[in-house]
Amino acid sequence: MAGEPQDDCLFCKIVAGQIPATVVRETETTVAFRDINPQAPTHVLIIPRAHYPDIATLGAAEPGIAADLLREAGEVAGEEKLESYRVVFNTGSGAGQTVFHAHAHLLGGRGLEWPPG
Ligand code: 5GP
Ligand code: ZN
Repeated sequence: MAGEPQDDCLFCKIVAGQIPATVVRETETTVAFRDINPQAPTHVLIIPRAHYPDIATLGAAEPGIAADLLREAGEVAGEEKLESYRVVFNTGSGAGQTVFHAHAHLLGGRGLEWPPG
């Protein structure tokens, strides 16, 4: 069923506490934790507890939870005292998505060039 945990999904395992992560914020619908391979001084992933493969399927099925990710990105940015930051949803392998459980990257704490590579 849509949104149910997937046995082979790394981020479902983090949500379930089966794989450790440095969690910085949690809500009823979301978990935010530090990326294991940070690309900036602050690099936090914000994910829905429910399993959807990417932001497009999450946004179509559960727009409220997609909005929760954006609110939480702003909350984490505030806690990290970031004046400037970027929120990114890599969608599809051609855009660099490697984990197919929807997630926002929150990046900050250094200059971020635009346009990105
Ligand atoms: P994507 O490439 O799918 O947009 O982002 C996946 C992110 O998950 C990558 O930035 C990668 O470093 C991070 N990641 C992969 N495995 C783990 C893990 O086991 N723990 C944590 N905290 N991050 C992970
Ligand atoms: Zn999952």
